[in-house]
Amino acid sequence: MEENNTAGNFIEKIIEKDIANNKNNSEVVTRFPPEPNGYLHIGHAKSICLNFGLAEKYNGTCHLRFDDTNPAKEEIEYIKSIKEDVKWLGFDWGKHEYYASDYFDKLYEIAVKIIKEGNAYVDSLSPEEIREYRGTLTSPGKNSPDRERSIEDNLDLFEKMKNGDFEDGKYLLRAKIDMASPNLNMRDPALYRIKRMTHHRTGDKWCIYPMYDFTHPLSDAFESVTHSVCTLEFEDHRPLYNWSVNESGVEAKPKQIEFARLNINYTIMSKRKLLELVEKEIVSGWDDPRMPTISGIRRRGYTPESIRDFASRIGVAKSNSTVDFALLEHCLREDLNKKAKRVMAVLDPLKVVITNYPLEKTEMMEADNNPEDESMGKREIPFSREIFIEKEDFMENPPKKYFRLSPGKEIRLKHAYYVTCTDVIKDPDSGEIIEVHCTYDPASKGGWTDDGRKVKGTSHWVSAKHAFNADIRLYSNLFESENPEEATGNFLDDLASDSLEVISECQLEPSLKEAEPGESFQFLRKGYFCVDTVDSKPGAPVFNRTVSMRDTWAKLQRDAAKAQKIKDNSVKGDTRKGNS
Ligand code: ATP
Ligand code: MG
Repeated sequence: MEENNTAGNFIEKIIEKDIANNKNNSEVVTRFPPEPNGYLHIGHAKSICLNFGLAEKYNGTCHLRFDDTNPAKEEIEYIKSIKEDVKWLGFDWGKHEYYASDYFDKLYEIAVKIIKEGNAYVDSLSPEEIREYRGTLTSPGKNSPDRERSIEDNLDLFEKMKNGDFEDGKYLLRAKIDMASPNLNMRDPALYRIKRMTHHRTGDKWCIYPMYDFTHPLSDAFESVTHSVCTLEFEDHRPLYNWSVNESGVEAKPKQIEFARLNINYTIMSKRKLLELVEKEIVSGWDDPRMPTISGIRRRGYTPESIRDFASRIGVAKSNSTVDFALLEHCLREDLNKKAKRVMAVLDPLKVVITNYPLEKTEMMEADNNPEDESMGKREIPFSREIFIEKEDFMENPPKKYFRLSPGKEIRLKHAYYVTCTDVIKDPDSGEIIEVHCTYDPASKGGWTDDGRKVKGTSHWVSAKHAFNADIRLYSNLFESENPEEATGNFLDDLASDSLEVISECQLEPSLKEAEPGESFQFLRKGYFCVDTVDSKPGAPVFNRTVSMRDTWAKLQRDAAKAQKIKDNSVKGDTRKGNS
């Protein structure tokens, strides 16, 4: 849907040119650099697929680097989950697991070198003054009075900053670039700040921490990253990225390339906001199946293949856009359609008694596990005199063209028999239908007859005495609006009230009782469901609905194709008219 997703996107073109010019000895090294301050979301998946995908394509390597420069926010739990998610998506960083905090010593030395060369200074302006001195997009900034401090004094103060001689925020190490630069990022940006906080890896060793814009490019350079792919908001930081790399004296010269971040409608994609949903207990955790986190969609039943397929279909582009959630669901259905066993579960049961079927008899009916793939084998489903079908598959007074069960009508029970409705039993007080009576045709075993007789409706069913009951969770969008942030100004005001519905009347075919946590199924006609990995117990699965059967994306594509055809035909028609 976006530019160049098969013929080589613009990043691949840059890389191929670099390889052709033997730049970096034609090697390709990329990295995925998460800040461990939350769980990864689908947006990160795009970046992971891109960076690891480029490394795979060009026989290179992709590093996993934790950008843990901000001691306030990092947590071990996040690191663990990030590794698990990247692996689950199917990527392997091998021995290339790095932490920006491992570079703190080197970064400090480089800062000292830059001071010695007269290109950084220690500033005592307050944050308010710094803001005031910075200028605006339309007016230049002005130099800090400390800008011309001597190199000796700068070195001395910077060392004292490191030694803890000053309180937090008292001084800042700033790059000496250009206070009149049209790019605000180049107006003497901060390189180091004083901040007394315990870091999860370096403990209390440091009370000064390097800024992201200094740490990130140098981490790339230390690791000899060749192509540093990041999202568009860093475009204006690129001159500073290059400044840091050049000043550092490190030989490697990574190239920063920006691409558009992924946005999806009806969802939010910011760790900070996702954290708010978790902390306010609006969801059950980072892995709540409604969350756009990788752990959430995994628990919901998404497959890594479907996410990689999605990432390749959306491609990479240079301008921001919002992708339709229906495309992600479409990729998922395509994958599950091939992989998921097709089973029968009745979500809203209505009892059907087959009055001419022997009282105690049980027959085993053979069913394909997936007609798309014979290698998935067959299984047997018990059939008996009393079964359940969906309430919606029966109507006492049906409209025309209703092909499901109704009085006097014959339908097929999938994999079983033809049955004809003979009676409707109602509660004498409420009038509610409590049971439907049918007769079956013993000559229709397996769901067909050789007399060529046709029935239009087919229902799924379960045998009442063999079925078991389980909780099923149906999910819908967490938010009401396509753009939850813009709709109300606060995404929390856009929360949908009904994003989780638990139904507990369901009756499931017995084979599902032993389903493994994480296993996916297609419940015939009802959608794809997977066994919840958190709340299921052995022999007592709880199911999450992953996605319904209705593929709105495929329908949109079909409608668009149809509209195009009509347009083409009418153009042809016009031409003919013009010619006559
Ligand atoms: P968030 O705003 O959700 O916290 P972030 O960009 O701060 O995201 P990082 O941990 O810094 O999160 O991101 C790691 C990598 O993932 C970065 O290279 C970033 O560019 C990329 N990334 C983050 N969000 C998206 C997105 N929506 N689409 C594509 N790439 C993304
Ligand atoms: Mg970030």
